[in-house]
Amino acid sequence: MTEILYGKPVADKLKEEIKERVAKLNERNLEPKLTVVRIGNNPNDISYERGILKNCDNLGIKTEVIEKDTDTTTEEMLKLFEELNANKEVSGILLFRPVPKHIDEEALRYAIDPDKDVDCMHPINLARVFESDFSKLVPATPMAAMKVMEYYGVELEGKNVVVVNRSLVFGRPISMMLLKENATPTICHSRTAELSKVTNEADVVIVAMGRARSLGKEYFNENSIIIDVGVSADKDGKIGGDADFDELSDYVKMITPVPRGVGSVTTTILLDQVVKACEILNK
Ligand code: NAP
Repeated sequence: MTEILYGKPVADKLKEEIKERVAKLNERNLEPKLTVVRIGNNPNDISYERGILKNCDNLGIKTEVIEKDTDTTTEEMLKLFEELNANKEVSGILLFRPVPKHIDEEALRYAIDPDKDVDCMHPINLARVFESDFSKLVPATPMAAMKVMEYYGVELEGKNVVVVNRSLVFGRPISMMLLKENATPTICHSRTAELSKVTNEADVVIVAMGRARSLGKEYFNENSIIIDVGVSADKDGKIGGDADFDELSDYVKMITPVPRGVGSVTTTILLDQVVKACEILNK
């Protein structure tokens, strides 16, 4: 029988741990605080922001939202980052991206204090992941997928793990995390030949393509473990993962649903990072 790997129990466990760490910081008169920087009023950003603020509130993490006009210049943003970097009350900074085209996003990536960079946009934080150093801030989505596998006891050591995504925000960093766990990762992408052959030979398949329900039974077998990170709308406008959940949820060994899978853990990882930032800054 297929085991469905829901994200909620994973997030709940992480939240309990976060609460304990916040309490420890409070005992030292320290309060973790997240500053969200939003340029403009994109409804998706606002809805994501609302979720983050509510979760922070539940966990005892202070928050602040700085809203900038869409005509804000790169210089103004750099000045803001300088102030936030210097502000001892701010533990984590989250900038909603992409920023408007006239703003130099690359310059902002280098301007954020790496120890306050909870979204892992500073190149030094990514470089650390590639050096197998996970002691500082790490990218949230790959870490969420790793936490789901850890929670459900997915064995990684010595296993063949196929990652279908080669982006710098997901496929590459998760491959480094998998190496740390002594797995043997294979990175696939849109030019990979015979993808179904590669996925069928894997012990674990981690997909993040953004092509709703495009992978059916021919890509997997009864022993497949599928970690589905993709979130997109199919031709009927229905949100789903890359794997065809309806077709696979009584066929493979394990599968994460979409929604209610990896995505439910990602925001919690972000909050975990805010607390981690506060711990790092006050070592
Ligand atoms: P991206 O940069 O567009 O990456 C998509 C990857 O999938 C690319 O490496 C692409 O290959 C590959 N791909 C696309 N079509 C393919 C095909 N037919 N066969 C094989 N590989 C294919 O996207 P992203 O920003 O990494 O996000 C990927 C997905 O993750 C999206 O659905 C996004 O919504 C989701 N996401 C989820 C969370 C979460 O918390 N669950 C968080 C962030 C993002 P090429 O490199 O060759 O183009």
